[in-house]
Amino acid sequence: YYKIMANPVCVEDTLNGCVILMLDVTEKQRAEQMRKEFSANVSHELKTPLMSISGYAEIMNNGLVKSEDVAEFSGRIYSEATRLTNLVEDIIKLSRLDEDNKVFEQEEVNLLVLAEDIKERLLPQATKKNVELRVLGENVKVKGIRQILDEMLFNLFDNAIKYNEDGGKAGVSVVKENDKVILSVWDTGIGIPKEHQDRIFERFYRVDKSHSRETGGTGLGLSIVKHGAIYHKADIKIDSEVSRGTKIIITFKTI
Ligand code: ADP
Repeated sequence: YYKIMANPVCVEDTLNGCVILMLDVTEKQRAEQMRKEFSANVSHELKTPLMSISGYAEIMNNGLVKSEDVAEFSGRIYSEATRLTNLVEDIIKLSRLDEDNKVFEQEEVNLLVLAEDIKERLLPQATKKNVELRVLGENVKVKGIRQILDEMLFNLFDNAIKYNEDGGKAGVSVVKENDKVILSVWDTGIGIPKEHQDRIFERFYRVDKSHSRETGGTGLGLSIVKHGAIYHKADIKIDSEVSRGTKIIITFKTI
């Protein structure tokens, strides 16, 4: 996309030619388009659980629910409200990463210790899905923002459990290689078809909408990972095969 900055100036006496001053606005246009899409998606994603909540609440309020069904209806309201809370929290996390924010405190973060901590927090989900969790590697540190690194690793490890099979395995490995620290989060789960692999880091992109909804995902987890990686000048790679599993590799520079 180009924007014409001034009327063409044409020289006709000696040369046949015109000068047109144009500005390349492709990037600006793309950013604007993404912003519009994001707003449309956000309002859709917010409206869906809100409409369910008000629908169920209205039916209950009208006394149309038999007493034996009250628990089921209130359960649905509760799970939709949880979904809404997760969504709002993820939107806030993303917008905070979007800003050129200098309030974050840089510190040295030991990724192996962080992974062990997240593993403990994810044990209930893993036990429920019968997924075995593993954390392996070297005690290496990266310079970064603890809270963002925590959110990134949590989202990846959480996905490795969510998109796994009963009895599967999920893990984190931290390895130092020359001047790089390689953080890998792997699973023996359902895998991601090749044609979706480039897109899963986009906001609200899901391979299987209904499955993601069942698992309580917001569709923003990997966008947070991507923006967190950009913030830390880290590189992301994905290696995945359907029915075999997924590995997401983030390469940081050492301190
Ligand atoms: P969600 O909240 O839907 O999990 P994410 O942004 O975390 O959103 O992930 C986007 C999509 O990428 C998911 O809906 C899922 O289809 C796919 N995905 C992410 N991680 C994995 C994984 N480890 N295995 C298989 N599919 C995955």
